[in-house]
Amino acid sequence: MPIKVFDLAKELKKSNTEMIAVLRQMGMASLTPTSDLDDDTAGRIRAEVSAGSNGNGGGDAATAAKAANEAGAAGGAGGDPVEVPQNITIKDLAERLGIGPADIQKVLMNMGVLAALNQRLAPDAVNRIAQKLGRTVRTAAAPAPAAPAAPAGGAGGTGGSAGGATAQQPRGTGTGSAKGPGTRTTSMKRTAGGGSAQSMTPRPPVVTIMGHVDHGKTTLLDALRKTDVAGGEAGGITQHIGAYQIEVGGQRITFLDTPGHAAFSAMRARGASVTDIVVIVVAADDGVMPQTVEAIEKAKEAGVPIIVAVNKIDKEGANPDRVLTELTEHDIVPEAYGGDVQTVNISAKTGENLDALISTIVLVSEVVVDPKADPHAPVQGTIIEAKLDKGRGAVSTVLVQQGTLRVGDVVVAGSTFGKIRLMSDERGNKLVKAGPSSPVEIIGLNAVPEAGDRLEVAKNEKEAREMARRRGDVLRDERLGTGSKMSLEALYQQLRTGPVKELNVVIKGDVQGSVQAVRDSLEALGNEEVRVRVLSASVGPVSESDVLLAAADKEATELNSLIVGFNVGTAGGVEKKAEQEHVQIKSYSIIYELIDDVKDAMIALLPPIYEENNLGKAEVRALFKLPGGRAIAGCYVLDGLIRRNAKARLYRGKDLLYTGDIDTLKRFKDDQREVAAGYECGLTLGGFNEIREGDVIECFELRQVPREL
Ligand code: GDP
Repeated sequence: MPIKVFDLAKELKKSNTEMIAVLRQMGMASLTPTSDLDDDTAGRIRAEVSAGSNGNGGGDAATAAKAANEAGAAGGAGGDPVEVPQNITIKDLAERLGIGPADIQKVLMNMGVLAALNQRLAPDAVNRIAQKLGRTVRTAAAPAPAAPAAPAGGAGGTGGSAGGATAQQPRGTGTGSAKGPGTRTTSMKRTAGGGSAQSMTPRPPVVTIMGHVDHGKTTLLDALRKTDVAGGEAGGITQHIGAYQIEVGGQRITFLDTPGHAAFSAMRARGASVTDIVVIVVAADDGVMPQTVEAIEKAKEAGVPIIVAVNKIDKEGANPDRVLTELTEHDIVPEAYGGDVQTVNISAKTGENLDALISTIVLVSEVVVDPKADPHAPVQGTIIEAKLDKGRGAVSTVLVQQGTLRVGDVVVAGSTFGKIRLMSDERGNKLVKAGPSSPVEIIGLNAVPEAGDRLEVAKNEKEAREMARRRGDVLRDERLGTGSKMSLEALYQQLRTGPVKELNVVIKGDVQGSVQAVRDSLEALGNEEVRVRVLSASVGPVSESDVLLAAADKEATELNSLIVGFNVGTAGGVEKKAEQEHVQIKSYSIIYELIDDVKDAMIALLPPIYEENNLGKAEVRALFKLPGGRAIAGCYVLDGLIRRNAKARLYRGKDLLYTGDIDTLKRFKDDQREVAAGYECGLTLGGFNEIREGDVIECFELRQVPREL
């Protein structure tokens, strides 16, 4: 009976990292944790490990590291340590070491990892690679300014979500951190020289699941959610907050739950790589499809390791082998084919092999990513999801990436800011703090940030305002104070900080001259917010391959991909295909009409802009509690007017406590649409009942500003 490397590791109470080190020592460098071992080999490994553990107890990994190190020193090349910045890319590391990047990729492959040239490496990974190459490196103390480095791996440590004063204590330090002390300690020492590097603590990896529609992403996310052991006692994951963390076998993993590529793209566009590992789901009965290819490309662009989950193996007609073959056409060479990408056959529906998928995630995390963060560093997070909730105001899910976020912190996210009033996890537990890799829902921001916005902690509200202002949201504050309007210039300023949107267009025309003319006109349309990206421009009728091209390049929505035909028709059957792929085909014989339509399509991609229109202000002078706890605020309208169904902000002194709707508005017993200055009224705010006398309620409405090019 063959046994998988990771199963043997489990049996021998070794981490996968340690196991790989042992295998390397025994001359089996090409094996990875998912490789099969025959009885004989497994027996030899068992013997080796038990002999080793009688020794100094330092662990095989440590021994291996030491050996490699000595080899390096002796070999001369490794003499002087090479200084490298934190989070260095493979390409840059190769340059500093004076070797080809392929040499580094080869080392990583031996660890079972496929990594792109721009993959950033955690200090531990750099050390391991250097050791393998017989070199010595020293990691500089200051972190790279960019996004928190990818890497990632080992679940174990102390960093994670828990932190909070809640029910989750049993996680963390215990079993997980038992792993790999050898390797880690060694490399931590070598990192010396810098204070902050010393406080880097392992954090759970952050994993995104991508793949073609209907291939089972949602089902898999649900199934993984159910594998959480902590769920048993704590009541399980009850809320969809856009991300969740599970704990399995002492390992914690954070999964981003955001639907598909849109959020991922938004985050990438802002230069923040939130994810450490991408799991690409491919249905075994359907094979590699356009969005599979897109997911592969996105993961490669992001320089994030890929794991392929071949799903639906329970189905009749499932053909996992075909999927593997198809993957090779996209430069994803599965281990079974001599490549370096881990693949796992699963059924998200029956739960078959989910444990192997989790082991593989843990493995890749440990070996390639080695995720770490400093829980004492200034807080850095990314907004995963955000919405306006009736009653609670802006509700946002933040992934904490560095530092520890606390209730009461004044934060800035994009152009929004506010004091965190409430923080909770996916189980509905209230938290007082949250460490790296924790997804948490926060309440208290003054407006709804965008997915992908960076979150930071400010010293105080004043600084937060400043920061938000600097980020382009110039006039919100002024408006609060003076009632003045946000200028268009300020709005554009705000927009300039966002990513450029692209409308993907395939151009078909009757003659080369007209094709070129259309192309020139469309490419001239762009500005700094939105532009046309011509995927292809050629002569002839619209064909099926045009449709596939437009569909494959579709980033996020059905809106941003278009085929325009100028004086040409559409080949037979293509319209049906276009419908299936949700691609629009439009034909024209007048170029101005074509340009106008494309302009409209570009405008449709621009995010709506809302302008706040201040309506008035009222002071709370009396309070009435209804049975059930509902609070009616008896108010006096100070200026302007208060309007039912408009928005409100409630201030207590300088503190903003509520942003949301005005639910009911009455004068005496009668419902009113509006109540003007100088009058009294009674009102209720969304589900917010913690109103006090003296609070000031500002009433405003949001008006959509028409966009133009
Ligand atoms: P998504 O669009 O990628 O999120 O796909 P879903 O998770 O919604 O799954 C699409 C369909 O495939 C649903 O009807 C699922 O029940 C089904 N499905 C997902 N995983 C499996 C599986 O492992 N086996 C089978 N037989 N069906 C599955």
